[in-house]
Amino acid sequence: MNINRLFKKRYFLPVIQFFTLTVFVLLIYGAIGITTRDSDFSMVLRNTNLSNLIVWSYWWPLIIVMAILIGRFWCSICPMELVTSFAGKIGLKLKPGGLLKSGWVITSFYAIILILGIHTFAIHRIPQYMAIYMLILFAVAIIAGLIWEKRTFCTYICPIGHLLGLYSLLSFSKLRVKDTGICENCKTKDCISKSNQYKFTGRSCTSELFPARIKDNRSCILCGQCHKSCTKDNIAIQKQRFAPDLSADIKLSWAEIAFFIVVSGFVVYEIFIEWKVSKKIIMAIPDWANHTLSISGNLAGTIKAIILFVLLPVIFFMIFAVLKKVIEKESWIRSFTQLALIILPVTASMHLLKALLKTTSRIPYWSYAISDPEGVKSADLIIKNPNLLNNDFLASVVSPTISFFAIILPVIGLILSFYVIRKQEHTNRYSVTISVMAVLIYSSIFLTTLILWRMT
Ligand code: SF4
Ligand code: SF4
Repeated sequence: MNINRLFKKRYFLPVIQFFTLTVFVLLIYGAIGITTRDSDFSMVLRNTNLSNLIVWSYWWPLIIVMAILIGRFWCSICPMELVTSFAGKIGLKLKPGGLLKSGWVITSFYAIILILGIHTFAIHRIPQYMAIYMLILFAVAIIAGLIWEKRTFCTYICPIGHLLGLYSLLSFSKLRVKDTGICENCKTKDCISKSNQYKFTGRSCTSELFPARIKDNRSCILCGQCHKSCTKDNIAIQKQRFAPDLSADIKLSWAEIAFFIVVSGFVVYEIFIEWKVSKKIIMAIPDWANHTLSISGNLAGTIKAIILFVLLPVIFFMIFAVLKKVIEKESWIRSFTQLALIILPVTASMHLLKALLKTTSRIPYWSYAISDPEGVKSADLIIKNPNLLNNDFLASVVSPTISFFAIILPVIGLILSFYVIRKQEHTNRYSVTISVMAVLIYSSIFLTTLILWRMT
């Protein structure tokens, strides 16, 4: 069936949201109470506990893949949108302040989850912590709904808002009006009408957008509400060629730029830890810092994350931004925006590769996670006898596929990055040279690592 006809159906997305809400509750139920203090045990338990396996190795990578290829479709079925919109209907409906609107709450929330949640307290390895994290997300979504108007959680708080927004710039699809002329003459403007704001379905846009003026994919969460509300049937999900938004004149906020800098550091780390040699290289500075400062335990993870996801990427971006500023005499924000947008395709391509690596490498755990959803007995069994995991399929089918994508994906990312450089406005040829240098250095880090890894 045509996707636009589906979006028009009154209960199409809410029904799916109720389903994902049920799945979320079951995932939390399957993880609560399952915990360990043994870090070696947690490395196996994360894959044998069914909830943990689904959330971190399948659900999360799938969201990334979807955002890159088809845009923010995850948001349209996200249960947080359902609960926060419902809370918004009965809540205080206060206007969000400047801090929320700046986007820094999203960036900070994401950085806290990444640095403290994942790399300090290992919420991705200990099911009980993952359940607590998901409950916190629900609580924040409900509280935000009760305090602020419309859908403030989705627009200004959701920790993955910037990530999905930036990656959806690459997507093959978009939601736009069919004819802006019809909108100009539209008297009712149901898609932004105040009276429609708190309807269950057919709401006006509660993400502060006017569909006729959407220029890129970043802020539209594809909830389809405007699609249903438009009485002129003038809104549609449309196909587009890959990544046209990246060549548009996009102005990123400082919060989005900071967010992307952290993501780029995270993606470098995620690819480097796949091969023991590159893992040793990337861990050299954090290990040295922790050793020098005599830091161990959880705090060592915090220091590692700050160095790899904040310090080093900031240095990388600063070097090229300073060069651009000096040579091109551009504003700082324009220099950083240009750099972020040209680095984005390579980063996204590597995030896709990581998603592929993660989902395929967990295949041998599925039979254990299904027969013992809690995963404690299975983890014990596998630790005592690692040969129990059947890796034949990984070696014969998955490994050659990974080798293929490990080369092809960074190359596609690199080509796309050059395309963006060509489309960006540069005041002189030195500025182009700086952009090319930044992309070449960034992508060669991946390409060299991946080629050497797959050859050994
Ligand atoms: S309701 Fe439809 S036609 Fe009217 S302004 Fe909104 S999108 Fe345009
Ligand atoms: S523009 Fe339409 S689909 Fe996009 S967020 Fe607003 S209401 Fe939802």
